[in-house]
Amino acid sequence: MVYDLIVTGAGAVGLATALNVQRKRPDWSVLVLEKASRVAAHQTGHNSGVIHSGVYYPPGGTRARLCRRGYDQLLAFCDEEEVPYRITGKFIVAVNEAELPGLSRIHERGRANGLQNLRWMSGDEMREHSPHTGGVAALWVPQSGIVDYAAVSEAYARRLERQGGVVQLNTTVLGQQRSGREFVVHTSRGDFRSRHLINCGGLYSDHLTEMSGERPEVQILPFRGEYYELAPAAAARVQHLIYPVPDPAFPFLGVHLTPMIDGRVEAGPNAVLAFAREGYRNTVFNRRELAAALGYSGFRALARKHWRKGARELQRSFSKRAFYRSVRPLMPSLQLKDLRPGGAGVRAMAVGPRGEMVDDFLFYGADRLINVANAPSPAATASLAIGEEVAGRLLDQRD
Ligand SMILES: Cc1cc2nc3c(=O)[nH]c(=O)nc-3n(C[C@H](O)[C@H](O)[C@H](O)COP(=O)(O)OP(=O)(O)OC[C@H]3O[C@@H](n4cnc5c(N)ncnc54)[C@H](O)[C@@H]3O)c2cc1C
Repeated sequence: MVYDLIVTGAGAVGLATALNVQRKRPDWSVLVLEKASRVAAHQTGHNSGVIHSGVYYPPGGTRARLCRRGYDQLLAFCDEEEVPYRITGKFIVAVNEAELPGLSRIHERGRANGLQNLRWMSGDEMREHSPHTGGVAALWVPQSGIVDYAAVSEAYARRLERQGGVVQLNTTVLGQQRSGREFVVHTSRGDFRSRHLINCGGLYSDHLTEMSGERPEVQILPFRGEYYELAPAAAARVQHLIYPVPDPAFPFLGVHLTPMIDGRVEAGPNAVLAFAREGYRNTVFNRRELAAALGYSGFRALARKHWRKGARELQRSFSKRAFYRSVRPLMPSLQLKDLRPGGAGVRAMAVGPRGEMVDDFLFYGADRLINVANAPSPAATASLAIGEEVAGRLLDQRD
């Protein structure tokens, strides 16, 4: 059989893309190939579970636009498919006077991105709503919320299959070749053929781009984010998302307090180079992947520029006390014993050859092929809008 479309990767982005193509072309046969034994096995199923409002992103950028659109689409999808979510609101907190200009810049961006009802509060005003939160001022973002993105992805897959699509798990894509007007996709379970191909490989997006015959403009460096879980008594004191003012030199939002949809509260994630692309613990090594990361000019440039920050992050990875020190300003009543080891996720950080960290979404390809080369946070929130954009580009390309 020749499929109309094969999508590689059953994370939120791959599944949402498959759904959007199916919506625009219900007559097409769609196959999603996934190497893991379940959907959302990697970034999508190991993230903070936050529904981002779009407050942070530079106005006019793809992230700002797709986050705002994806937010509305995600909530509508969750309502339709009965996936539980909660709009908790978020406090972005300046823990000292030096952070006020940064907070003010986020406020301006949020307004420029069209967010309504943002509120600047003094520290005391904020504590009327969130008594255990530290800080001298805060920005209240009422739109932010929480959801389980693994549950969202399972619902994406269910809808796709209900509408005639197929999600095939335990199938690793090993090679991709054009053959006339078709693609031959070589996998661990034999060859599949299709007329169109979209790669949404997350942590392996650069490998898949290369496999498809395109030259990747960036290499993926895996950055692990580790979480602690709050003991129940401390967790009961956190009702909203509590975020720091992010360091503008980095694409990560900083260690935050996150109520989860199942009632737990997490603190994290930090950001350390993982020794394997799917290295969820600091003891997991993949010699080939680590050598490729360390040998990459982009990594060496990044390390030269940011070694101090890298060393601090590494310390936070190995020392609970160092982690505690970084989260305590957000919640002064937190005690060291309130932190219990939690899970971890690995972010696919796209880095250019001179060490430039690419933080916007990146798609390329031509002639019936698209590679989603970079889909960092908030790509889970924005997944349906990313899928819509990628589906549109693919169908526009068609002859
Ligand atoms: C720690 C952390 C916290 C985050 N917090 C948030 C948040 O709160 N809110 C938010 O919106 N975003 C968040 N993000 C970002 C978000 O999770 C990701 O941007 C999003 O999940 C990316 O989805 P994806 O489908 O591109 O990638 P993934 O979910 O990684 O999926 C890619 C899939 O491709 C498969 N694959 C790869 N290679 C092959 C192959 N050769 N053959 C077959 N299959 C293959 C993989 O197994 C994987 O399942 C966070 C990310 C991390 C890591």
